[in-house]
Amino acid sequence: MCKPTCYLCKIEIADKKNSHIIPKFLGKELFISDLGNHAIQIDRDGKCKKIQTIPKEDFILCVSCEKRFEIIETFFARFFTKLRDFENFTDNFDIRTLGNQNYIVCKKLNPKLFKLFIYSLIWRLSISTHFANQKYKLPIKIEEELRTFLDRNLKIDHTSLISTINEVENIPNYDFCLIKPENKFADFKGMHSAFQISKSIYLLALVDFIIFFYIDDSIDPVLKIYSNKQNNDIIIPISEDERWFALNKLILSKILNTQQSRK
Ligand SMILES: [Zn+2]
Repeated sequence: MCKPTCYLCKIEIADKKNSHIIPKFLGKELFISDLGNHAIQIDRDGKCKKIQTIPKEDFILCVSCEKRFEIIETFFARFFTKLRDFENFTDNFDIRTLGNQNYIVCKKLNPKLFKLFIYSLIWRLSISTHFANQKYKLPIKIEEELRTFLDRNLKIDHTSLISTINEVENIPNYDFCLIKPENKFADFKGMHSAFQISKSIYLLALVDFIIFFYIDDSIDPVLKIYSNKQNNDIIIPISEDERWFALNKLILSKILNTQQSRK
C-alpha cells in the first residue's frame, strides 16, 4: 500500500498507525461507567452502537509529527486534570463573576501555548476522514494557515516547546470559547463529537468540555466576552447544570438534524 505524505510536515511518509484525532484525556471519562467500559456512538442514520475507544486513524502523520503532538498533549493532560479540580488549585485558577456568570481565569497558562493546543485539535479534526461524516471541514486556506502555524511551532521535546513559546509570532487570530460544566453527573458523562454548526462555527463536544470555534466575526456578543482571541489570560465560563444539559440537547439535535438532512 502506498502511504501518503505526512499531513503536518508534508515531507516525511505518514507511517504512523493509530493516531488519535482527539487526545485520549479529552475522552476517556466517556468509557468509564457503571454500565461497563463503553460509550454509545450515534451514527449518521441515528443508530446507536457501543464503542470502546475514541477514534484513531492510520497514516496521517509521520512518527516525529505524532511525537510533536504527544509533547503538547502531555502538557495539557496535566493542565486539564487540574482544571477539572480547579477549586483545589487556587495558585493556577481564579474564579470570577460577571453578572451572574462564573468563569475561571487560568493564571499560569501561557495563552500562546493554549492556542497551539486548541488549533492542533481544530486542525486534526479537519484533516481526519473520521469526522468527514459530520461535515467538519475547514476552508482550505484556514486549514493550511493552521498547519503552517503548528508545523512551525510544535516541538519534538518539552524543553524546546516551553523555551520557544514566548517567541511565537503570527498567531492565527480566531474567536474560540471553552465551556465547562459546574458539576459532574453520575448518569450523564457527556458527548464526544465534533461538527460544523454553520459556515463559520465549529463545535467540539469533549465530554466535560465544549469548544466553539469561529472562522469569522460572527460570534454571539454574549459569548464574545469569553472568547480567547486576544492574548490575555485564558478564561473559561462555568455552565450551570440546566444550561449544560440544554447545550448538550441542542448538540444532539443538531447532530441528528445534520444526519437526517443528508439522507
Ligand atoms: Zn510529519
